[in-house]
Amino acid sequence: MLDPFGAEARRLVKEEFGGITELLMVIPSYVGLETALERVRWVDSGKIPEEVLELDGIRDLLTFYALLGALAFSPYGLEMELVREANLRIYSARIERARTLEGTSLPLETVRGDEIPERDRIILERTHHTELSQEERRKLRLEYRLSLSKFLELWDGSLKEVYVRNGYAYLTWNQSVELWRRSFERSFERAVNLLYEVRDELPAYYLQLYERLGEIAREHFKERLEKLGRAEAQPLRFDLFPPCVKIALGGVPSGLRNYAITVLLTSFLSYARLCPNPPRRDVRVRDCVQSLDVIEKEILPVIIEAGNRCSPPLFEDQPHEIKNIWYHLGFGLTDKPTLEDSGNSPWYFPPNCSKIRANAPELCKPDRDCRNIKNPLTYYLRKLYFENKKSKPQETSKENTGEAAGAGVRDNE
Ligand code: SF4
Repeated sequence: MLDPFGAEARRLVKEEFGGITELLMVIPSYVGLETALERVRWVDSGKIPEEVLELDGIRDLLTFYALLGALAFSPYGLEMELVREANLRIYSARIERARTLEGTSLPLETVRGDEIPERDRIILERTHHTELSQEERRKLRLEYRLSLSKFLELWDGSLKEVYVRNGYAYLTWNQSVELWRRSFERSFERAVNLLYEVRDELPAYYLQLYERLGEIAREHFKERLEKLGRAEAQPLRFDLFPPCVKIALGGVPSGLRNYAITVLLTSFLSYARLCPNPPRRDVRVRDCVQSLDVIEKEILPVIIEAGNRCSPPLFEDQPHEIKNIWYHLGFGLTDKPTLEDSGNSPWYFPPNCSKIRANAPELCKPDRDCRNIKNPLTYYLRKLYFENKKSKPQETSKENTGEAAGAGVRDNE
């Protein structure tokens, strides 16, 4: 299989299994943890095992989606980088071997011999330059065309770098492969976001796989983690919050107050600050921190200020609501909790976007970064990930592959 997001893969997922969620439910019966991990274990060596390269059809799809399912527990963490890096290299190697991009998710069309005017070909492909080697000629050949609208979605270079004609961008092999990589990364991110929404329904197999992936990722990104370990614990980045959380922070009218402050803001701020990638579903605050300091000094004041900005101010109107805040943080109904109380009630996870839209539509004013996002926390993790990537352009994993260099988003101190 050349692309797990291509037409053939989509057909298999739909017709053979009935959809992605159904596929994830059956994978544990077919794919052992060790088999799934074979797809990533080799990254430090840099050499893809032949048996992984030769996996095909459903077997390939099942092992790939097993790893995607595990990432539902950690979008934008090191595990995601590891899985993405390994699989991009597997599929890239297969594409180079097959020397075709047909069958991938990118709707490329093979260029017909007569559709580019001869004079343009002479200039672009330097067909009269007899000194060029076969290999150099191959690199210059315009092999595929892609509709301009699709091309512009993926291309971030200058339009001067490509030949555009009649609504199509004409591409060399290398340009086509680069676009396929971007398309793969985009589909990958979209799929992880989609699965994040159903992670509570996934079998325990995926959590085990996620934990094993974490071990391999920590070893692979050891150098980066050591640097992160020395770095200061990061405060919340308010500028990267999603629109719904920013609206809640600004204060809201009476009908929205409890949902915006107690349900959304409390869960969002606490997970974003204390446990962005919870290791398991029933995580407690005391699993993530050693004292209540961060809650009392950083999180609670923000919640109370946002409550005071509501009209009428929430905590003046309903002073008991503060107990409800602690309840939602997992400490039971109290206003004087200790760390040991965490676990007395569930620590509420930020509601998914679909729930926010259903319960408090006024809070959901999506911006362009909300595209494909299913939960406000993943919006934040994604933005943090790209911010870190901007500020740390050098990859620090053992194997520098030129892939993404974002820092992990764990900040559980
Ligand atoms: S789409 Fe989601 S993250 Fe974006 S504003 Fe709406 S609820 Fe918030």
